[in-house]
Amino acid sequence: MKLTVVGCSGSFPSAESACSSYLVEADGFRLLLDMGNGALGELQRHCGLYDLDAIFLSHLHADHCIDMCAYFVARYYRHDGGRCAPLPVYGPEGTEHRLTTAYADTPTASSMSEVFDFHTVKPSTFEVGPFTVHTERVAHPVEAYGIRVEHGGRSLTYSGDTGATEVLDELARDTDLFLCEAAFTHGKENIPGLHLNGLEAGESATRAGARRLVLTHIPPWTNAATNLRDARSAYRGPVELAAPGATYEI
Ligand SMILES: [Zn+2]
Ligand SMILES: [Zn+2]
Repeated sequence: MKLTVVGCSGSFPSAESACSSYLVEADGFRLLLDMGNGALGELQRHCGLYDLDAIFLSHLHADHCIDMCAYFVARYYRHDGGRCAPLPVYGPEGTEHRLTTAYADTPTASSMSEVFDFHTVKPSTFEVGPFTVHTERVAHPVEAYGIRVEHGGRSLTYSGDTGATEVLDELARDTDLFLCEAAFTHGKENIPGLHLNGLEAGESATRAGARRLVLTHIPPWTNAATNLRDARSAYRGPVELAAPGATYEI
């Protein structure tokens, strides 16, 4: 598997990075995890506009899904006059309605589904192209999922947005790469069931036995170096900050 960080800024884009979006490739199949603010532009640095094979949306906060509205335009009103075939989109209950109303307040009822094939995510295991995918509900104020993507005996686990939860530890059990959010700063922000801080991300990686930790979803107003230091204090394996354009062979 190859992972490319398309965007990794938390909550809103920074000058350097779009919001959450991660491209996972194997056997020529391209699965995009989240499409937050600015991600569609960055994505085109890494693959063609119409080269995605499936999209997974961890939850419906704008910083994880809002560029789906722009992507709808690109697929529905193609420059060549054609219309793209429906692309599989896996998201929480109500994804189509949310994206449709975000796009326009008087939407054509079915237009989104002409170019997206919506599937409702539940905690489960299913196949997406060559990948085996496991999804679990994580701790966030809205219905939100963490996802484990497996291929060829290797695994990537993406936390989505979550507070500390044993569910995440289990999802990331022995995973090869743990892409884990660290939006909060230890000792500064402490709101249960919302986000992890760097220390908690490190603790979760340790409990899970993850082989590598990549911290993501750090907002522009947060000192990333502090979160990295805190994660290192709780996790002995390799840990680094996600960066736009970074790639990992898993
Ligand atoms: Zn977020
Ligand atoms: Zn969120």
